[in-house]
Amino acid sequence: MVESLSRPFPYNPQVPCTFQIQTTAGSARRGQLIAPHGTIETPVFMPVGTLATVKGIPQDLLEEIGPEIILSNTYHLYLRPGVETVRRLGGLHGFMSWPRPVLTDSGGFQVFSLSDLRKVREEGVTFRSHLDGSSHFFNPESSMEAQIGLGADIIMAFDECTEHPADARRTRESMELTLRWAARSKKYFEEHKHEVPWRHEVPWKEVASNQSPIAINPGLLAAGDRPPAAEQQLFGIVQGGMDLALRKESAERTIEIGFPGYAIGGLSVGEPRHLTREVVEATLEHLPADKPRYLMGVGTPEEIVEYAAMGIDMMDCVLPTRAARHGLLFTSEGRISIKQARYAQDEAPLDPKCPCRVCQRYSRAYLRHLYAANEVLAQVLNTIHNLSFYLDTMRTVRQAISLGDTPRFPHAAER
Ligand SMILES: [Zn+2]
Repeated sequence: MVESLSRPFPYNPQVPCTFQIQTTAGSARRGQLIAPHGTIETPVFMPVGTLATVKGIPQDLLEEIGPEIILSNTYHLYLRPGVETVRRLGGLHGFMSWPRPVLTDSGGFQVFSLSDLRKVREEGVTFRSHLDGSSHFFNPESSMEAQIGLGADIIMAFDECTEHPADARRTRESMELTLRWAARSKKYFEEHKHEVPWRHEVPWKEVASNQSPIAINPGLLAAGDRPPAAEQQLFGIVQGGMDLALRKESAERTIEIGFPGYAIGGLSVGEPRHLTREVVEATLEHLPADKPRYLMGVGTPEEIVEYAAMGIDMMDCVLPTRAARHGLLFTSEGRISIKQARYAQDEAPLDPKCPCRVCQRYSRAYLRHLYAANEVLAQVLNTIHNLSFYLDTMRTVRQAISLGDTPRFPHAAER
């Protein structure tokens, strides 16, 4: 008999998801988000693993690079390989053999940005697949069903990402629709959250004796007790375009519906950066201080430090991985485009201050050669470095906050 490789990973059934702030420095917060598959130190940067893979990086290597949580995209996984396949193989954790926390988005943003012939109605969105043109329908209920089946630790309400620019009337209508969809998302989630694929797979006693990512406190377990099962957490999303009054209203009304965490959506959609910052700042004012705040889809290394300083706890972006595949590398000395001929004879490491395995081992000349020769290894090594740089940047941010300092991005001259 062939042994199954899709296995459930131990999760902590005892501790429901909680968020604790340990220190603050100015507006910045240093905290811990406890999820079923592990504890996430915040502020956190979440690498994007669109199709249940951070492109080019095997999971054991990813564990070494060290993200505590990764993001996967519901829209892409729904189209390929299909939610039912992932669910039957243990959810994303079992399917991709990743023991740490995962977050999935709702699919709304990809429907907005990737698919053709999108038609939005009250009931939901009809769209055509960017892969083969086939017709599909997403709504709050089907997005929740898909995200419960995928089994991420944190899942997102189904929203409409308002395009930019949009006039006042359109922005309000879109925000109102997102609010109605948020309420429907929560209702479906509450009725179906017990269907998550990992919830009943690992008996609690077994977990308690395992090396779970979270320390189990045996004092809380009475003999024979079955502790409450851990659950996915559904986060709400604040929309409202670039209109600060609508952002306030969206925040207040999303909080009324009630979620354990709140995301700021609808940014990085082509607006100038100063406007992104203004909207983030204005929205943060209206979000509860004791809940995690997630800014979706940002940013550069400088920006993630800036947003952490403003009080954002979670961020995700394709930039470090996508840029790596195009030979754009982030270093302590600034950006390097490794394709340039000037690196052809350069024996120096990519970033002399970076402890990653690429900078410890290979020269710029070698990395430039791999890229110029279109070798697969170029993408792998570049991605390892860029992810390491982003995660190190966030570690530095957390250290600064722990010391009571407002995090800031060091300029090249200060490094
Ligand atoms: Zn490096």
